[in-house]
Amino acid sequence: MAESSFYPSRPLPYGRQHITEADVAAVTAALHADYLTQGPTVAEFEKQFAAYVGATYAVAVANGTAALHLCALALHVQPGQRVITTPLTFAASANCVRYCGGEVHFADIDPETGLIDLAKVRALLKAHPKGHFTGLIPVDFAGLAVNLEEARQLADEFGLWIIEDSCHAPGGFFIDSQGREQRCGNGQFADLAIFSFHPVKHIATGEGGMITTNSEQLFHHLLRLRTHGITRDPADLRREPDGGWYMEMQELGYNYRLPDFNCALGLSQLARADEGLARRRQLAAQYDAAFAQVPGVTVLAPGRPGHAYHLYVIEIANRKGLYDFLKTRQIFAQVHYIPVHRMPYYEGLGWRAGNFPLVEEYYAHCLSIPLFPTLTDEEQAYVVACITEFVTADNAG
Ligand SMILES: *Cc1c(COP(=O)(O)O)cnc(C)c1O
Repeated sequence: MAESSFYPSRPLPYGRQHITEADVAAVTAALHADYLTQGPTVAEFEKQFAAYVGATYAVAVANGTAALHLCALALHVQPGQRVITTPLTFAASANCVRYCGGEVHFADIDPETGLIDLAKVRALLKAHPKGHFTGLIPVDFAGLAVNLEEARQLADEFGLWIIEDSCHAPGGFFIDSQGREQRCGNGQFADLAIFSFHPVKHIATGEGGMITTNSEQLFHHLLRLRTHGITRDPADLRREPDGGWYMEMQELGYNYRLPDFNCALGLSQLARADEGLARRRQLAAQYDAAFAQVPGVTVLAPGRPGHAYHLYVIEIANRKGLYDFLKTRQIFAQVHYIPVHRMPYYEGLGWRAGNFPLVEEYYAHCLSIPLFPTLTDEEQAYVVACITEFVTADNAG
């Protein structure tokens, strides 16, 4: 490939937010409104987000980690209970179980997709008496949806609940056995689904998160847990109110609320979500086509329908070399993820190198390269040229 004379006018990270003047105007308006928090923008964001993913209910929360914690609480995770997740995720997917005193177990990935291998989950479940495990937390890794119809069958067979960690996949879907598109977070198969609005994710609110569900009971419970375990809803009160101020703290909850101005930003971003998703998919298709011509670069799960492309992941022999080289060219790639069971904290709980060899092999070679809606075609071509230059020289040397 010819050397290009193009040099990017800005650093190119693996992901970044896209803030428009409309976003700024929306936040400004929210700051001038009557409520900074707990106002009407929260419910509006919840309503529109639920509609976007095709779920009945949504609960806005402080961040994706808080969303996971509240889900674990709402599903009554107890000390000693065992929950299965993937080692290929951000630590928070597993940590929520630990917050409630539960035990985290892992099933290795399918190296073709990066997703938890449901056949391995089945084998793990079958190796123990029913009731040994209580829940499953699959992750729509990089934006590729887990087949939750299959996960639900397993869950029903073995008596598990499901929390879908869909932080990477708003707008993503899988095709079910009837040929229908099943959107991530639509609540058809998972009990609860969670999203994050951290700036690198599809929709940014600064910090922020959302839980979606089709269960009215879980929805009401989550609303209470989000605000200290307190309710004012006359339908839920256990005692006769002694005045207009009356409210009840019925259980131990938290303050995990998302302020109105964050929700205003979320609403404005949500209005452009499909546009951003389309651009992510277009960029991914362009990367796929370019890397098909570059020996030594393998693309993770190319050309899958419904992929929401939070990350674009390549696998290469000399990952550290490429990572360091790209840094000298203003390209800030990232590794997703150091497997959770290899974190010192989880090793302290007994997990070891070699426990999940497929994810460890994946980790040795993976690199997430720039993918975000405002990445220009020219910038993308530059990224491809730099990677090609490195891989070609590395192969020759
Ligand atoms: C970002 C992320 C989280 C945590 O979300 P925060 O909003 O940063 O707390 C959880 N799980 C996955 C897979 C994520 O990517």
